[in-house]
Amino acid sequence: MTKVVVIGAGVSGLATAYALEQGAAAENIDLEVTVLEKQSRCGGKIWSRHEDGYLCEWGPNGFLDNKPATLELCNGLSISDHLLRSNDNARKRFVFSDNQLHKLPENGGQFFASKLLSWPGKLRLIGELLVAAKKDEKDETLAEFGRRRLGVEALDKLIAPMAGGIFAGDPETMSVKSCFPRIAELEQQYGGLLKAMIKMARQKRAERKAGKQVASAAGPGGVLTSFNDGIQQLTDALALAINGEIKSGIGVDSIEYFDDYLLGLSDGSLLNADVVVSAAPANATASMFKKLHKGASSLLEGIPYAPMNVVCLGYDKEQLSCNLDGFGYLIPRKEGCSVLGTLWDSSIFPFRAPQGKVMLRSMMGGATRPQAADLSDDQVQILVQADLERIMGISIDPEFVRIFRHQHAIPQYIRGHADLVKQVRNELLTLPGLFLTGNAYDGIGLNDCVNNANNTAQQVLNYVAKK
Ligand SMILES: Cc1cc2nc3c(=O)[nH]c(=O)nc-3n(C[C@H](O)[C@H](O)[C@H](O)COP(=O)(O)OP(=O)(O)OC[C@H]3O[C@@H](n4cnc5c(N)ncnc54)[C@H](O)[C@@H]3O)c2cc1C
Repeated sequence: MTKVVVIGAGVSGLATAYALEQGAAAENIDLEVTVLEKQSRCGGKIWSRHEDGYLCEWGPNGFLDNKPATLELCNGLSISDHLLRSNDNARKRFVFSDNQLHKLPENGGQFFASKLLSWPGKLRLIGELLVAAKKDEKDETLAEFGRRRLGVEALDKLIAPMAGGIFAGDPETMSVKSCFPRIAELEQQYGGLLKAMIKMARQKRAERKAGKQVASAAGPGGVLTSFNDGIQQLTDALALAINGEIKSGIGVDSIEYFDDYLLGLSDGSLLNADVVVSAAPANATASMFKKLHKGASSLLEGIPYAPMNVVCLGYDKEQLSCNLDGFGYLIPRKEGCSVLGTLWDSSIFPFRAPQGKVMLRSMMGGATRPQAADLSDDQVQILVQADLERIMGISIDPEFVRIFRHQHAIPQYIRGHADLVKQVRNELLTLPGLFLTGNAYDGIGLNDCVNNANNTAQQVLNYVAKK
């Protein structure tokens, strides 16, 4: 019997434990899987909180259905019937610029009609067709990439807000190759983004004609997908499906290696394991690895995290005069707002607000405005409401407010991230049976976390089978 300990019961740790048990059963491998979770609850960043009739997503509000990993996992867990696709409002995404909301164009006609970019900005963006593909291997930042291919205005009004919306990141430091590998690939594959978009738009038109549901061209691709009771239904189902013990409220303080691994736990006890998978955030893993491997530990400390405040606000629908048919909006930094953007959660999914009410979810902080983490709740609320008044004309007080804080919301894949991760993995080759997974390395989206969990589980099974 091989004893495997998975550290962290976020979606990455739970999906790893589940895939390990499924794989071990299929391959006839004798495994005992234990999951250790520092918090008293499972789910990590996933937490769907039902409060006063509102459904507040503490972290993610869904996953995109354009990649198979999470959908396949839902299938395996027999929860596919409960999946909830976002409605057509999710296609309408906005950017707040020059004191008005601009709908992101979904096609060429809308692009030319839109006032989001000036004419010189539009022409520069179209000039991307003439920009040669990058030849060198340099790890470009998103800002360098944006300026080189699309121009400064498109960078400020389109790319930077998107980077804030997905990574809470700073385009001046984010690695385009690590954060948006598909974009870097498209440049290499098609010679440019517009050339790629033209080809892919033709493909989408054909799919629409064939009656398939196709994501908005303005969005990141794929349809945002969740459950009636929120995205936590995924981690709840995972936790239920795992046969091994999930010990919550017990953190791992240290790891040492002798003939096997010896884990020092927060309750003062020790635990032995043949295999250890850390699915905890990089900074937590760095701290556990201090005695085990100093080099890997200090490299992991080099992965920075951005903080974020998630602010849920509930209103009586009749008291609002603004149009809430849409996904929400992002805000370019130069607009001088306090929030990164606001999602109109109750417009895209049912059951997010009581009958006759609406729920808005504003994100504040990120790598460009980390000081938001130091604001008091009162200050946060005042600033968020001021932005809502300026952007949407909402001057009344909300009837419901919840402020959720993430000190370490999202890992930042800054320039050099891919090399750093490679170096960490090389350093750890000297430690047999030690694996890393989670959102700190190869993608932050739920699909990436699930996909990486599956890959990690397979690596563990291969390792155990060879032992
Ligand atoms: C506000 C916000 C919105 C987001 N929106 C989306 C979205 O809409 N769609 C999307 O795809 N992604 C989104 N993401 C990203 C996505 O939610 C995360 O990347 C993903 O949930 C991370 O899962 P994880 O298991 O890798 O890490 P985590 O969820 O952080 O789990 C790590 C776990 O390890 C535990 N742990 C830490 N230290 C120890 C220790 N010493 N011992 C034991 N356990 C420990 C933690 O308590 C935690 O439970 C969002 C993230 C945030 C913060």
